[in-house]
Amino acid sequence: MGRITLLNAGGYGIITDVEGGIEEHDTFTCPHCNGVQIVRPGSGTQRGYCHLCDAPTCGKKNCVECVPFMKKIERYERREELRRAMDRV
Ligand SMILES: [Zn+2]
Ligand SMILES: [Zn+2]
Repeated sequence: MGRITLLNAGGYGIITDVEGGIEEHDTFTCPHCNGVQIVRPGSGTQRGYCHLCDAPTCGKKNCVECVPFMKKIERYERREELRRAMDRV
């Protein structure tokens, strides 16, 4: 059982295993779920990349779509609805 110490998001993570060995891994934060991911070279983990956030994503199903961007669109549509409702008056 290893202990995972995350020093900071988007920076550096250190995994300490029971044998006392220290593995150092790069980490990054998924821009969509804010989850800290540990980069494991050669693990074969499929990750995505969001060109809108210009950052790698964790690759989870929920994180494939750019959520911050979708929220922006929702807000824009609501504003349009409000404008249309006011035009009717
Ligand atoms: Zn994510
Ligand atoms: Zn994004």
